[in-house]
Amino acid sequence: MAMRKPGLKHNLIRFGVAWLLRVTNRTPRVLFYHGVDQVDEEDSLHIAPESFEREMQFLLKHYEVVAMEEFEQRFFANRLSGHEIVVTFDDGYCNNLTYAAPVLQSLKIPFTVFISTAHIESGDYFPTAIARMIIRDSQVKHLSLDCLKLEMPLQDNSHRKIICEAVIQTLKHSNVLFVNEICRQLIANVSADEYQSLCDQHRADRPLNWDDVQRLHEEYGGTIGSHCVQHFICNAYQTDEEVIRQLFQSKQKIEERLRTDCRYLAYPNGVYNAGDVTPFAMQTAQKAGYKLAFTTVTDRLHSNFNPMLMPRLAARFEVEDFIVKLGLKPKYH
Ligand SMILES: [Zn+2]
Repeated sequence: MAMRKPGLKHNLIRFGVAWLLRVTNRTPRVLFYHGVDQVDEEDSLHIAPESFEREMQFLLKHYEVVAMEEFEQRFFANRLSGHEIVVTFDDGYCNNLTYAAPVLQSLKIPFTVFISTAHIESGDYFPTAIARMIIRDSQVKHLSLDCLKLEMPLQDNSHRKIICEAVIQTLKHSNVLFVNEICRQLIANVSADEYQSLCDQHRADRPLNWDDVQRLHEEYGGTIGSHCVQHFICNAYQTDEEVIRQLFQSKQKIEERLRTDCRYLAYPNGVYNAGDVTPFAMQTAQKAGYKLAFTTVTDRLHSNFNPMLMPRLAARFEVEDFIVKLGLKPKYH
């Protein structure tokens, strides 16, 4: 789609075309964000607080924002109006509590946060965040990763970016034990002090802890879903035992901690048509008792959809982009 020029987007909105698209391309949409924080990086996972607030206000004005539980009921009862929006967040970042929840509460917008329980427990940063911190943003001049047989000087920023992307791709296509080992070796490239200061610099990527999760749930009424034990990609590189453990234990842990049902799952990475969700993972999610499991692939959503492979839409961080994207046919994003 030729939607790149800001001028075009503004005109679409100004002349009411976004409204027309919204009406003709009506479909329920489950949106996903990661975090809300001021971060000056072009590929940041976190949307600026002002943009987030504007997007939420836009949703309130033009859609029916419903809680996940309401969405679930309508989905199974075949009562979706096509006007529903569900707001979700993946991973479980601290800023969901500090920045997002107060805005959502003030606007009375229900929301769901999918958490990776081991990160909530340990405070460990996610593998991709570790790769970015160590390879792109640290003082390291020479990267050493034995497990990948990788020994190389790190040059300028664009070189660092390329290496970082390659390591991230490896992280996304490896089994969880190997992912843990890569992370351990990445961190070993810097001193404990430098690692701590990198974590401080990247505090937007810090996970919630259990007290925070409890507050999100009790004080702000957030629904808490599972994003596996670790940030575990349910692909064919994983063993069946590990898939079972990740899907069952995360659910159990959330239920124990919050004394509530954990009915929803978001598959980490979640590009099911690129192999991020195997048929076995889908069956296991069903067996574990999740009522709805979400991918990160967009599609028109209707009541015949496989509840273990539900589509979602990645929210855009620029408000004009967001408005146009919401109006487009789901396949065109
Ligand atoms: Zn995730």
